[in-house]
Amino acid sequence: ELRQGIREAVAAGWARLQEGGSAVDAVEAAVCTMEDNPRFNAGRGSVLTTDGTVEMDASIMEGDTLRNGAVACVTNMQHPITLARRILDTDRHSFYVGEGAMTRARALGIPFCDAEDLITDEQRKRLESVIGGTVGAVALDRRGLIAAATSTGGMTGKPPGRVGDSPLIGCGTYAESTSGGVSCTGDGEAFIRTVLARRTIGILKVAGDPMHACQIAMDILVEEGRGGGG
Ligand code: ASP
Repeated sequence: ELRQGIREAVAAGWARLQEGGSAVDAVEAAVCTMEDNPRFNAGRGSVLTTDGTVEMDASIMEGDTLRNGAVACVTNMQHPITLARRILDTDRHSFYVGEGAMTRARALGIPFCDAEDLITDEQRKRLESVIGGTVGAVALDRRGLIAAATSTGGMTGKPPGRVGDSPLIGCGTYAESTSGGVSCTGDGEAFIRTVLARRTIGILKVAGDPMHACQIAMDILVEEGRGGGG
């Protein structure tokens, strides 16, 4: 089911690129399909806080001008990544949290849903469960623009107000068209400690090979960050 969900995400992103859309359009479309898919920890299907609520984080970045948009602790919406995208497109500021993010969403016409619509029975039953993780996408379009996006419900059983790496540009998400794009998943605090997304781009610039850069980044995550992820 997870592989199928990833295939659908790739297909959605690819379709946008084929239509002539940008890498930013592609990563938003890919992440939206996974936010809709209850098997992933993003949008509907997000993990629950200790209060049994859903609080979601997301970020998106385009690698030509380094513009980005991010939101944290948002509720009542199916597509936090679309709110992050609209902030990237329209705003002088790039990162909104909590009530301020919800006010911005209202102003930008982002559709809202009931909080209950985001909570699956599986998550309610298994506060401790680990199912599909945080979702992310990286795309390169025909004009050479690289974009990256990440969306998550966070860590299972997190206290309300806790924010991980996913909405933090440089920690959970980074894109630079001259080098590459990164979207992280795993122990958010470890990615924050190591500022790993931007650091991985730095390693990629030197190493040249994405797989090698990822391997070094994962070693840093374990050794310096004292956490796990991908
Ligand atoms: N990195 C996310 C966070 O810490 C969780 C995850 O990737 O599963 O919020």
